[in-house]
Amino acid sequence: MINSPVMDYVYTYGDPSRLYLNGTNRCTNQCRFCVRCNCEGLGGASLWGDTEPDLDAMSRAIAERGGAAAYSEFIWCGFGEPTYRLDLITGIADYLRSGGAAIRLNTNGHGALIHGRDLLPELSPVIDGVNVSLNAPDCERYLALCQPVATHLPPERYWEEMLDFLSRAPDYFESVQASVVGSVLTRAEIDASAELAARLGVGFRIR
Ligand code: SF4
Repeated sequence: MINSPVMDYVYTYGDPSRLYLNGTNRCTNQCRFCVRCNCEGLGGASLWGDTEPDLDAMSRAIAERGGAAAYSEFIWCGFGEPTYRLDLITGIADYLRSGGAAIRLNTNGHGALIHGRDLLPELSPVIDGVNVSLNAPDCERYLALCQPVATHLPPERYWEEMLDFLSRAPDYFESVQASVVGSVLTRAEIDASAELAARLGVGFRIR
């Protein structure tokens, strides 16, 4: 579903000291609860588009919203999985940090499947904290809710890769959180997800 030829590359949502960065609409999942299913954007921004930003376009978009020094945190989170744009994430980090801001990555944890290699060592220098979409307490529930797109891999790989990324992330980032969508899980599933996050040694958030 792409209704806008040019998507907004940056947007604010709630706290005005945080700027969200939208680098792609591509995703390895098609989650039943994805906000993309119900709206065209967030915070007044249109996040669907068929033109992904390059480094210059993303830098210009941030400059037009006050520049790097105007924000305390930048968050890679758009209508897609941000690690598809590893080039952008690594290329713009110095500029984002030039005003003292922290950088967070909201990810489904599938970067290694997308790029065919472990991304944690590459992300570590350019990201301060990660929020990983755990989404479920077990593989079966994860696949039912998140519906991985690709058919050339066993679907279980998507659960396993997410868990691998999440479990090793504390060695690479200052803060690591696993998150679930509370409205699509039972109380027992939320509790089991929180217990899984605790076993992995990461924080837990219901979104
Ligand atoms: S991983 Fe995120 S962007 Fe992708 S479909 Fe799920 S909720 Fe949407």
